[in-house]
Amino acid sequence: MTIECKANNGTNGGSKVAFWLCPCLECTRMDWDQRREAGIGYGVRLDEFRNMMFPDRYPKPELLDCGHEPTVTDGIGTGSAVGDDDMTMCYNCAKVEVVDAILNATVESFNNGKQYGNPLPVMYVSSDWQRLTTWDGQNLARIGWVGKRHNFAARYSDDKLERRFFNAVGIFGADTVYMTGVGAPGEYAVCRTMKVVT
Ligand SMILES: [Zn+2]
Ligand SMILES: [Zn+2]
Repeated sequence: MTIECKANNGTNGGSKVAFWLCPCLECTRMDWDQRREAGIGYGVRLDEFRNMMFPDRYPKPELLDCGHEPTVTDGIGTGSAVGDDDMTMCYNCAKVEVVDAILNATVESFNNGKQYGNPLPVMYVSSDWQRLTTWDGQNLARIGWVGKRHNFAARYSDDKLERRFFNAVGIFGADTVYMTGVGAPGEYAVCRTMKVVT
């Protein structure tokens, strides 16, 4: 459903209405942004705000499949994640799911006695090479050592990403998991467990 903008739909003669009276997606976001900048309505999500202001246009936000409301974000992102089974969940539940998957992966890999464990679930390298995070930037592990450029970056000469080897350590439940991986800032990393200390 597209809601036509009444505040910014013609350059001749200026706006027909003030932008805070316009229910379109752009104007409601602008209003929400400005109120938060002014310290009014902090903590009200954009979808809640739209419902408060224009209840006839925007239905009351529903709970996600995990039973929680979408996470309040700083304006980037929707506040919800979609799992493997197409279930929607808040960022906290999404993080719990990643941590559970890491714990399962480490248990399996150290039961079969291999030196390097099974591949770990997807984590992302932060832009400053300091952390591994969930896709929405929540901390999972700390990167220690960053090594030389990974070979396959050289094989594809048009590859702008500088993938590097790194080591990282994260605490998941009662386990301290040491891992090694290859990745680039802002990109997902391919990691394996090296050691788990329980
Ligand atoms: Zn508008
Ligand atoms: Zn949740």
